[in-house]
Amino acid sequence: MFGSVLIANRGEIACRVIRTARRMGLRSIAVFSDADAGAAHVALADHAIRIGPPAAAESYLAIERIIDAARRTGAEAIHPGYGFLSENADFAQACAAAGLVFVGPPAAAIRAMGSKAAAKALMQQAGVTLVPGYHGTDQDPAVLARAAAEIGYPVLIKASAGGGGKGMRVVRAAADFAAELDRARGEARAAFGDDRVLVEKYLTRPRHIEIQIFADRNGNVVSLHERDCSIQRRHQKIVEEAPAPLIDEAMRAAMGRAACDAARAIGYEGAGTVEFIAEDGAFHFMEMNTRLQVEHPVTEMITGIDLVEWQFRIAAGEALPLSQERIGRRGHAVEVRLYAEDPARDFAPSTGTLARLRLPEESPNVRVDSGVRAGDAVSVHYDPMIAKLVTWDEDRDGALRHMARALASCEIDGVQTNLDLLRRIVTHPDFRAAALDTGFIARHEAALLPARSTAPLAVLAAAAHRWLAAPPPMPDPADPWSPWATRTAWRLNGARFQDVTFDEDGTTHHLRLHPLDDGRFRLETGGRAVAVRVDSGADAALLVELEGEATRLSAAWQGGRIVVFAGGLRHALTPVDPHEAMGEGAGADALVRSVMPGKLIELAVAAGDRVKAGDLLAVVEAMKVQFRITAPRDGVIAATHCAVGDLVEDGAELMAFADDNDND
Ligand code: ADP
Ligand code: ADP
Ligand code: MG
Repeated sequence: MFGSVLIANRGEIACRVIRTARRMGLRSIAVFSDADAGAAHVALADHAIRIGPPAAAESYLAIERIIDAARRTGAEAIHPGYGFLSENADFAQACAAAGLVFVGPPAAAIRAMGSKAAAKALMQQAGVTLVPGYHGTDQDPAVLARAAAEIGYPVLIKASAGGGGKGMRVVRAAADFAAELDRARGEARAAFGDDRVLVEKYLTRPRHIEIQIFADRNGNVVSLHERDCSIQRRHQKIVEEAPAPLIDEAMRAAMGRAACDAARAIGYEGAGTVEFIAEDGAFHFMEMNTRLQVEHPVTEMITGIDLVEWQFRIAAGEALPLSQERIGRRGHAVEVRLYAEDPARDFAPSTGTLARLRLPEESPNVRVDSGVRAGDAVSVHYDPMIAKLVTWDEDRDGALRHMARALASCEIDGVQTNLDLLRRIVTHPDFRAAALDTGFIARHEAALLPARSTAPLAVLAAAAHRWLAAPPPMPDPADPWSPWATRTAWRLNGARFQDVTFDEDGTTHHLRLHPLDDGRFRLETGGRAVAVRVDSGADAALLVELEGEATRLSAAWQGGRIVVFAGGLRHALTPVDPHEAMGEGAGADALVRSVMPGKLIELAVAAGDRVKAGDLLAVVEAMKVQFRITAPRDGVIAATHCAVGDLVEDGAELMAFADDNDND
């Protein structure tokens, strides 16, 4: 076994790999960009090397810089994690050429599966069933359109070089094919520098079921069972579990065999995942990921195997530690991916500083894999994942119970998150009944993405308590959550009540507070009156007692707002002066703002242009996904405030409309 390993990655996967390296006595070496100098993975490693500026192309994707870092630190092996260079055959080759052990499959195996189209052709030869489709080399749009018509709509266009759902477009009718093809190609070029595509029949109620395989140098291949990853948004997984519920042993065994055959067909070594799409009891090969998968922890939880340890052993030339018969499976595990993103805005990534970050406590039933800490920034440069929460129990129900509780204990402020969505998914009756397919989120949108609920009474009481306890503090970026001395002004000035008005995302809450004995107060709002008693605990914790019912929550000033967390939900309440003029409003639709942080890759208009509502104004790209910004109304563009290539923040002013009476 080698004695040291460089992890060519960042965030939670770098931390995850470092932990196993440490347990095995390996020296761990982290690499970091300028944006990550203070990151968790850097602090955790034995050694860390700066490799370049924030842009991934100049740091985590810069092969020579990483090889150079390995040379300088005397690293003997390189673990690529996932994403970045993990499926880059040139990188695997460069490692070998530099005398470094690449912890992954041989370059040839990566290449064989690197093109989804070529992989499908290969699997067809190996006798594995495919989704009906076209994966030929002729990329003439007319040929592709004809193939789509033959397959029958709806069809799915996929980037051959694809990954992460990029360059993937569903086309429902022939009339849309050409435009969607252009878009898929544009995304594919941006993300992979390769715009070749394939076309598949788009299955409407499929499940995504994948097999974790491992192979050693001696040609032994085993399956570590399956995972179900059907809960997806934008064709990307957000909830995964193992084993897959409600599949019969015959199908499970057949999928395991097909996956092992696929691995054998390409002389595979190390960890890999063969992804299948299953519908009506049949399953079809989709692609093979030649790396560790984001959702590997659920497999670890049910098998008791550390997949990163196996990767190290196999890369060092050892044989598979266990034969197929000895790879057991116990209980059920579920993982959720907690992302900085806004489900209400088509899951656009959300950037900002994690002013508050409280993740669940770990236990034998709860595992938390995270690579960020409170105070860290979620930037436009990298994947916006905050953490993976993984729970286990003897059965699925138990695992879901632990997950619901784990989610309810999270407190995150500073970015939008999908926390509430995840909580609604894992407690949804259909999900609990394992009625799974990839359309789950879209189908249950009304229940999963409801209009934001407004603060219930206990939350208003907590905010009132904070408001009474202290005036808005001067912003203290170092510790915005510290407690303050109690303000009991109302007793000093003898007033019999105080009024406070909170604004919550446009909803106004009028509160009237009367002092009672023993520090209690009466809260009147929305026609209700309750007596409130609040016990302050450590940190921002409060126990709010209303009419004999106690709720545990946390509340603290954050900038000019009071942020309250209750059962995994976050409420931001801004005290407002009710007499202050509401003003502003006028001219609000004169500005066009970016709907997400990212890079401006296209500016379709210039000052003086006349546009119609719905016309394309600009395209912003984030995480290689393109968002089109269209005109909210007819009008004339007065000025643009951005240029192609700019990094724009969420809400940044991109351009302004001319006053309507300026023209005509
Ligand atoms: P897939 O969706 O390709 O089956 P995964 O779900 O394992 O595979 O990961 C999706 C992709 O998202 C990965 O290929 C990787 O590029 C990217 N990704 C997800 N999370 C991260 C992260 N924390 N760091 C880097 N890349 C990530
Ligand atoms: P990626 O490289 O982004 O992981 P995949 O080919 O694995 O791309 O597909 C990602 C997801 O898209 C799948 O998990 C599945 O939900 C959906 N998908 C892929 N192919 C089809 C198909 N033919 N019909 C319906 N959904 C599909
Ligand atoms: Mg995939």
